[in-house]
Parts: sequence; C-alpha cells; structure tokens
Amino acid sequence: MEHITASEVAGFGVGTLLLCATIAAPKVDAFISASQRSSLGLCKRCGDLRMIACSRCRGTGLIKANGPFSFNLIDNLYQSEEIKVKSVGCTKCQAMGHFSCPDCSNTSTS
Ligand SMILES: [Zn+2]
Ligand SMILES: [Zn+2]
Repeated sequence: MEHITASEVAGFGVGTLLLCATIAAPKVDAFISASQRSSLGLCKRCGDLRMIACSRCRGTGLIKANGPFSFNLIDNLYQSEEIKVKSVGCTKCQAMGHFSCPDCSNTSTS
C-alpha cells in the first residue's frame, strides 16, 4: 500500500469525527437538553415540575435535630437518647421537602 486512496482518507475523517463526537457527547447532550427545555417552553430551573427539591433536607421534609445538642455535654447528660435521633420539620422548606419553583410561581398557570 503506497497510496492512500480517497475513500481511506474519507474513512479516516469520518472516524475522527465520530471519535470527536463521542468525546464531546456529554457536553453536547447537556447543552442540547438545556436548550431543548427552553425551546420547548419548559422551565430551565425545574423542567416544568414546578418544584425544586430542598437541598437542606434532601427532599424528605425532615432534618435530624441533633445539631446544637451534640455539642452541649450538660444537655446530653439530662436529655434522653431520643433527642439525638429526633427529626424535626425542615424550616427551610416548611417540611414540604420541596419548594415551589420561583421561576414558575411568577408565571400565571392558565
Ligand atoms: Zn420552574
Ligand atoms: Zn427542606
């Protein structure tokens, strides 16, 4: 094989393109999905779910109430074990586990 034929060059070019496409796929996919949402009229922030999972309680609506107590030795002596595992309603999301999307709540839901 002394000469590289045109088809081989073309094949090499296509192979390189495919390789590049494979490498760039995640970025392209993310870009497309974001632009798709906006082009479809979906909310960019929540994807038209109209709600966003609470980051503090991770969507459960409950958080463990052991934060300040674990640092207080005297309180630990008098408090029973249940105070450590007691869960309280998340104050960030009012124990809902999610917020209503601020972007969607502004728009009228006709
Ligand atoms: Zn939204
Ligand atoms: Zn929450």
